[in-house]
Amino acid sequence: MTDFSQDAEAARWNYRPVNPVGLNPLFVWPPRPAAVLRWYRGAWLQLTSLTLCLALAVAAYAWFLPPLEAMQSFAPGWMFRVWLLNMVPQILVAGALHWWLYMRKGQGKYKKFDRRDLTRDNGTFTFRNQVWDNIWWTLGSAMTVCTVYQWLIYWMMANGWVPTITWAQAPVWFVVWMFFIPMWSGLHFYWVHRLEHHPKLYKHVHAVHHRNVNIGPWSGISNHWYENILYFTTYFIHLVVPSHPLHLLFHIYFQQVSPILSHSGFEKIKAGETEAAKTGDFFHQLHHRYFECNYGTSEIPFDKWFGTFHDGSAEATTCTRAYKKQMYT
Ligand SMILES: [Zn+2]
Ligand SMILES: [Zn+2]
Repeated sequence: MTDFSQDAEAARWNYRPVNPVGLNPLFVWPPRPAAVLRWYRGAWLQLTSLTLCLALAVAAYAWFLPPLEAMQSFAPGWMFRVWLLNMVPQILVAGALHWWLYMRKGQGKYKKFDRRDLTRDNGTFTFRNQVWDNIWWTLGSAMTVCTVYQWLIYWMMANGWVPTITWAQAPVWFVVWMFFIPMWSGLHFYWVHRLEHHPKLYKHVHAVHHRNVNIGPWSGISNHWYENILYFTTYFIHLVVPSHPLHLLFHIYFQQVSPILSHSGFEKIKAGETEAAKTGDFFHQLHHRYFECNYGTSEIPFDKWFGTFHDGSAEATTCTRAYKKQMYT
């Protein structure tokens, strides 16, 4: 049991969850089916990043994505639409969240992890401004790389060079694969992210993302070009695993829009007097504060298995600092 009253770091947070950071109970032994059910009910049956991403994917598929037949050869019309399908939700979600939480300060510091405001007039950031820096690396770099990858995948799907499915052909697989996409994403992210923490790659590439010790919605995928080239390779799973364009769209929004929420810096969004949505992710917030911990997500507990898990306690901070020291010496 973690005793938070003994935590020397407590004063550094404006707010932090009372309980140690939770991990997906699917991987504990002996099995805890009720806890697993609670975990997935919490993720899929509330307003969370998962449900938001699924809703965005369905809307994009129903109203904006050109049919696969139109994507058999490269043409500006559909390619432009694919780019818009990346840009518009990113701008709307990050823009709205940033406006509400950091400009309008709609809920003050309620459930805000870090007590500091976002950085201005600081030479660490491109344009000397954290928000403009983050907007540039997101809309300029990340959106370009992900769009190019998606063009390739849709084009290959359209030409029948990779296994695709329809709802009518495989309804069970359709649902099962949708459910596993966040897990695949977590697995891929953990390994790519660990690689990026190799001192050489870190210094020249991943440091762009880690300029943001105190994070905001636009920090989500504010990454260096090389990091984006690696990070978005997660989509290439759809060249191997039988998928429908809706799977790719859900994967896209999970990879691009959910980091906006997990980097929002606030655990919950308040609407009126009630907590309307779960946004922030203390698990990843700890990664931005202490760097060499929590490389993955709470979906698959790789960090726990490889000894890099930080649960938010003082002991974990001590362990992380010791690990960091031996890493760079
Ligand atoms: Zn990192
Ligand atoms: Zn991050």
